[in-house]
Amino acid sequence: MSSTPHSRTASSASSGLAPYGWDEAWADAFAPYAAEGLLPGRVVRVDRGQCDVVTAGGTVRADTAFVTPHDPLRVVCTGDWVAVDPGGNPRYVRTYLPRRTAFVRSTSSKRSEGQILAANVDHAVVAVSLAAELELNRVERFLALAWESGAQPVIVLTKADLVPDAVTRSHLVHDVETSAPAVPVLTVSALDGDGLDVLAALVSDGTAVLLGQSGAGKSTLANALLGEDVMDVQAIRDVDGKGRHTTTTRNLLALPGGGVLIDTPGLRGVGLWDAGSGVGQVFAEIEELARRCRFHDCAHDAEPGCAVQAAIDAGDLPHRRLESYRKLLRENQHIKAKTDARLRAEIRKDWKRKGAMGRAAMQAKRGQWRA
Ligand code: GDP
Ligand code: ZN
Repeated sequence: MSSTPHSRTASSASSGLAPYGWDEAWADAFAPYAAEGLLPGRVVRVDRGQCDVVTAGGTVRADTAFVTPHDPLRVVCTGDWVAVDPGGNPRYVRTYLPRRTAFVRSTSSKRSEGQILAANVDHAVVAVSLAAELELNRVERFLALAWESGAQPVIVLTKADLVPDAVTRSHLVHDVETSAPAVPVLTVSALDGDGLDVLAALVSDGTAVLLGQSGAGKSTLANALLGEDVMDVQAIRDVDGKGRHTTTTRNLLALPGGGVLIDTPGLRGVGLWDAGSGVGQVFAEIEELARRCRFHDCAHDAEPGCAVQAAIDAGDLPHRRLESYRKLLRENQHIKAKTDARLRAEIRKDWKRKGAMGRAAMQAKRGQWRA
């Protein structure tokens, strides 16, 4: 690497960002912007055209108008690494660095595009309560989303203290493990602290998010990882230009044991959004079996030579898992079809408008001819 005065300035200016996940690869990606004198920083919160960016010199507020606002997937989001103009009032985010991973979800009915929820997440922690009945279909749904984002999922079985019997606990762990190929499964109890050190170590080398149903214990885990109440941490007082006090909420926090936690309100209960390849990863063993079916378009119902049905008959694959796989695929197709339908409706509307304009122009012309 060249050691221009610029890059030296940039590396010393950004060394304070290591707790927020800054590494050599980010520094490399940022080099051209450093050469322009721009500051690196990570977005800790976004709201209406502005964002809070943590930089080596502290948190700054910046305007995002420069970054393409038309495509909802290309707006700045929590977790993005950005290049900020150091001068100017207001300050501007010039651009964001290419994302390593991204959590995207479908927006409410009006829009057909996805919405970006968090960027550059390494660990997707799926919290599942051991105190409630185990709903493996739901777990698989969260895993599909996690894989689709590009983050590595990890399942945390919470409230272990409420299942004191070791045999019962190990059965539950086993059930979850068979539904989650290539996913580590941990058990923790926030109450007595069991397993928290393992989780803290696991998330200490990157950026994590907490997913899972309401009541699964996400807030409790967040507090345990942060070592204090999130609410206290979030109530950071800021002094704005007019000397008035405003309370801001950070959605991205550095953990005392290393690593970063992103906890945005919209992310926790994410819906499924085109998790096509994610679904494939959750049900890797089914897709593997399907490759051995006699017919390449086998529906795994009653076709001869079906390797999937054979595995179910042999007791190697729970039927529930095949059903869950089918359900998630259907759900995906439904979301896709809805998006396509909306797109088609918009095109039709556009056509009608253009058609009406065309007819009006035609009539005007005819009128002219008649006159
Ligand atoms: P969230 O909705 O996923 O954020 O869940 P919360 O963190 O709010 O937890 C839901 C409930 O479970 C609360 O009443 C917590 O006190 C309780 N809880 C969370 N973790 C544990 C645990 O490890 N053991 C026990 N016994 N209760 C827990
Ligand atoms: Zn088959």
